[in-house]
Amino acid sequence: MSHRSFRTAACILLLLYIFCNLKCLPAYSQSPSATSQATPLPSSQMLAVTSSTASVPATSLQAFMPRVSPATLRYSHIKYVVYFLQSGFEILAAYLFLQLGLAKALRTRAERNTGSLFGQLLIFVPVFYVFIFLARLPLNFYSSFWLEHSMHLSDQPFWSWFEERLKFLALNIATELPLWLLLFFSLKRLPKAWPYLIFGVSLPLIVLAVFAAPIVFDPVFNDFTLMPKSLLRDHINALATKAGLSDAAIYISNHSKQSKKINAYVTGIGASARIVLWDTTVQKLPEDEVLAILAHELGHHVLSHINCGCVIAALFSLCMLPFNLYCTPALVRRLPRAWQIHDLTDIALIPVVVLASFTVSFLGDPIINSYSRRIEHEADAYGLELTGNGPAMARLFVALSEQNLSEPDPSKFIEFWYFSHPSLKERIQFALSKRIDGASSNSKN
Ligand SMILES: [Zn+2]
Repeated sequence: MSHRSFRTAACILLLLYIFCNLKCLPAYSQSPSATSQATPLPSSQMLAVTSSTASVPATSLQAFMPRVSPATLRYSHIKYVVYFLQSGFEILAAYLFLQLGLAKALRTRAERNTGSLFGQLLIFVPVFYVFIFLARLPLNFYSSFWLEHSMHLSDQPFWSWFEERLKFLALNIATELPLWLLLFFSLKRLPKAWPYLIFGVSLPLIVLAVFAAPIVFDPVFNDFTLMPKSLLRDHINALATKAGLSDAAIYISNHSKQSKKINAYVTGIGASARIVLWDTTVQKLPEDEVLAILAHELGHHVLSHINCGCVIAALFSLCMLPFNLYCTPALVRRLPRAWQIHDLTDIALIPVVVLASFTVSFLGDPIINSYSRRIEHEADAYGLELTGNGPAMARLFVALSEQNLSEPDPSKFIEFWYFSHPSLKERIQFALSKRIDGASSNSKN
């Protein structure tokens, strides 16, 4: 690596602190959230894991293994490639915005137009975000529209899909613009103390974003209704009550307008916390499998996974505080001259922060996904304890593989880098192999 490349890479990595705070923005995507909070079960009701998969007869496992069709392999493998390509495109797009002189030209234009910081950001941020949006668009169209339709996983009309992308862009700009304003305002007014301010507001902003996600942002894309009266709802309520969450908010979303896949997730914090079942899940799965997926989500709730995520983000922010105090100003001075970034208060620094965000986010995915797989396993274990119905949970995972065209047994590298959940093969084995101590006494209330 040349000295220049090393310098650039170092600058990118050492801007981690700023990026980290910005990465904690509301999640507008409809991907499942894997975090929650609620009242824990008494410890006596927690799962006691006792067995290994070696104890499961091979015939039992084979009976529950999903059918891996050529379509499943093709779809899954394309998704892996798209993930790596998309990550590379994002990094390249932000880099080119700097290297081609677009950042400095846009900064100069904004400064000529207005002397106010807010006015300058109002020009710079939307233009830069639209640039990144357009750079992402071709691959985004291929993977989330064309591929989904060609695999019969969606029948969403193109304009509906495109409208959602535009809404996503608008929400990104609307919510991140105030954050950029706060950052540059503190950089200008508090040149020595700005890291303390950024650290001080990071946790409240994270909590606010998580709180607002289900009640402000998610409804922009989908409708959410409380589950209507039915036998299934009675059984769901009974399961939630058994988990100590008799007042849990359980919603049905109309995700069928976007996808034919099945899924569920937990989201929100405090008063906004809820479990969401996609309408496709309720329509396509038998009752015991719906209860199995719900029990998994209740596990996230009971085990306070959302709260844990917020605490981890805050701790990371705290760890980065001294680094940011002593290293970031020097790093900004060492950025490539061609980028013409004057100092820390230069708004042309925004693409650098975003470039750092994309890069570290991609490189950090294995760590984040490793943690995610752990809490997903904990939720599986809790759900299994709650229902005491391993075969139903195993059939649920078979359905997730076959209906969502998800490869049940990916390569170790792909699982390590890309998978936020344990492989479905592992989850099936776990569901079938666990002996649950005391399950009978916990499951008949
Ligand atoms: Zn989960």
